[in-house]
Amino acid sequence: MERIEKNKLLLASVLGLIGLLVNLYPIHLFANIQLILGNVSYVIAAVLLGPWYALYTAMITVTGLMVAWDSPHVYFLFGVEALFLGLARKKDIYALYASFGFWLFIGMPLFYLYIFLFTDLPSSHIAFIILKQGINGLVYACIGSLMITLTPSFWHFKSKIKDRQRRTFNGQLTYTFTLVITVALLLAALLFNNQFIERQQALLYHNIESSAAHLGLSTQAYIDSHTQAIKNAAAWLSLNQHSETEEQILLSHLHENYPGFITMLLADSQGVVIGASPASLLSSLESQRKELSIRDRDYFVQAFINQRNFISPAFLGKGFGQDPIVAISAPIYRADTPHQPIGIIEGSLDLKEFKVIDNIKTNQNNQSIVLIDKNGRVIYATDNLGITPLSEFNYSLPSKNYITPFPMLNISHSDTMAPEYVYASVTLENDWQLFVLNPFRPLVDLVESMYLATFAILFVALSVTIYISRVISRRLTLPLENIANKFSTQSDNNYVNYAVDEESPEEIYTLFQRLKQSKSQLIGYQLELEEKVAVRTLELEHANSQLKALAEKDPLTGLYNRRYAEDKFPGIQQLCKRSDEIIAIALLDLDKFKFINDTYGHDGGDLTLKRVAELLSQEFKRDSDIIVRYGGEEFLLIMPLCNALKIENHLESFRKKLDNIVIESQQDKQQFKVTTSIGAVIGNGTYSDSLEQWVKQADINLYQAKKAGRNKLVFTTLEG
Ligand code: GH3
Ligand code: MG
Ligand code: MG
Repeated sequence: MERIEKNKLLLASVLGLIGLLVNLYPIHLFANIQLILGNVSYVIAAVLLGPWYALYTAMITVTGLMVAWDSPHVYFLFGVEALFLGLARKKDIYALYASFGFWLFIGMPLFYLYIFLFTDLPSSHIAFIILKQGINGLVYACIGSLMITLTPSFWHFKSKIKDRQRRTFNGQLTYTFTLVITVALLLAALLFNNQFIERQQALLYHNIESSAAHLGLSTQAYIDSHTQAIKNAAAWLSLNQHSETEEQILLSHLHENYPGFITMLLADSQGVVIGASPASLLSSLESQRKELSIRDRDYFVQAFINQRNFISPAFLGKGFGQDPIVAISAPIYRADTPHQPIGIIEGSLDLKEFKVIDNIKTNQNNQSIVLIDKNGRVIYATDNLGITPLSEFNYSLPSKNYITPFPMLNISHSDTMAPEYVYASVTLENDWQLFVLNPFRPLVDLVESMYLATFAILFVALSVTIYISRVISRRLTLPLENIANKFSTQSDNNYVNYAVDEESPEEIYTLFQRLKQSKSQLIGYQLELEEKVAVRTLELEHANSQLKALAEKDPLTGLYNRRYAEDKFPGIQQLCKRSDEIIAIALLDLDKFKFINDTYGHDGGDLTLKRVAELLSQEFKRDSDIIVRYGGEEFLLIMPLCNALKIENHLESFRKKLDNIVIESQQDKQQFKVTTSIGAVIGNGTYSDSLEQWVKQADINLYQAKKAGRNKLVFTTLEG
């Protein structure tokens, strides 16, 4: 782990605190679904600072969620996410791609495990909640990445992690597109889906409420009309004296008009049934010789003894079928006994008949109804609810995590967190309560399918994005690459519009044109330079050879100078030494030269020297002979590989030829002569490797020649 740096820690802390504040107020989307945006802060920390700072930021940020949700799992799940994003950053993986990988392979499985182990959410909800968490993760990864790109202080943060490898233009372009499209699409989807769902919910609830109101009215009307029928019949029976047969007929007529009654009874003051509809009921009871007394029944007691119109609580019909019924009864009087009933009329209202109302109203809307009496017992419940009539109506309220603007309840799975029904209820005049229920699941299904559609669109959009950005970047990078290749090789001289066509972007075309211009200019300069270099080289070579000549030759006579002789001699001597050859050395000194100078001027002297040099060059023209101007009016001849017998004569003949030459001064055309004294030696190559030694011997002879009167040759052979 790297050393903790102060400025990084400060940034991580500030990010963490901002994230915490944002996370304290998650944006509520639908039911128990919330949009978390505070986690953007640790995405930024991961990209800028790496895994450990990201983990630190996440721990602070997520505390906001801990407060809002009260579930410690957030520390683990989001901590792992922060670490993962930071590690991916170190490997140069873009945050959004890393986030995608994380949620697909780690985040969603982990979240599933958490929900499965620690919550009792129904499995049908789990997939959706997990998917939503993944989408949420992508959203804040996108927002974080975009914030880094768009916020200069993040972008230029000095100690931020740098890419290890240079990224391709295609990669950068694709990522930018992907970010923008993902964040735009997901946010738009979340927002619009949410609005749509809210409308849908409002519509649904409005529907339920109006259903409840209508059904309440119908139910009330159903009970009212039947109560009224009993009342009216009692009043009518009280008015006149009727025979039992007449009463029976009346009862049958009434029953025909009110088929909602299962049975209708007339009883006398003793509670003995004296009339019944259907009539078969009475005869079958009679045939069983049963005591047809109802005096212990509540509806008899209430109507006869307490003399009131009565509606019983719901109960299961005894002996008249097993349906839940309510008994509606009213006392019957005689004109002469207006305060003492002579019997009662009773109708058993079949509560199953609510089905008719139920069917009319609820079928089209997928709604169910539950009607309970004032004791909370179920009088009627739509079949699909699976509620036994007359049982207690047990329901529970779902978890508070589910936030909808409407009341919700659970019937069958009272222990699950997810709500089963959205409901509305009305209380009837007799304190019965009517519930209209609408299942919650279809709403969730709707939301799920919308999110799935969003995801599908995102997938398609991203595929198109990747393709488009590849095309665009290729239109830029391919020509650039080709141009670069083209201009890097100089051999290729044909200017084809290579990879640059009419469709190429203006900038690329301009670049290509400029480079083309530059290249031809460059080639021009190069040719010019090459020419200049060639000329200079020639001049230099010339100067060099002149210099060399100057260094080796005497400018006045054009003969080699003393240094040349000293340089060359060792090579010549070695050659002669190896091949056992001889070397002849002659030292010439012009006689009375001072006189010539004095008499004919310095120019005359110079002219003399030139003449002597010319003659020497004519006489000694073997390639191996070296003629040297050794000093002022002294000349040296080095003659290797010569014939010992002939050389003396040759030198002597030279002396004579010089003696015969007449020199004419150029200025005053005076004529004069010059002679030379010659000291010469001949010796084997082995004699000495020092030129000085040879010259010294020749000089001795020269001295002798001068001494003997000048214009002489003294020639000796060296021994040893
Ligand atoms: P000798 O050798 O016969 O004894 O008499 P000399 O006059 O030649 O003797 P010395 O060596 O004293 O004189 C040589 C003269 O040659 C002296 C100098 O002025 C002259 N001299 C040497 N180099 C040049 C030269 O390059 N040009 C001209 N004009 N004169 C030169
Ligand atoms: Mg001299
Ligand atoms: Mg001399």
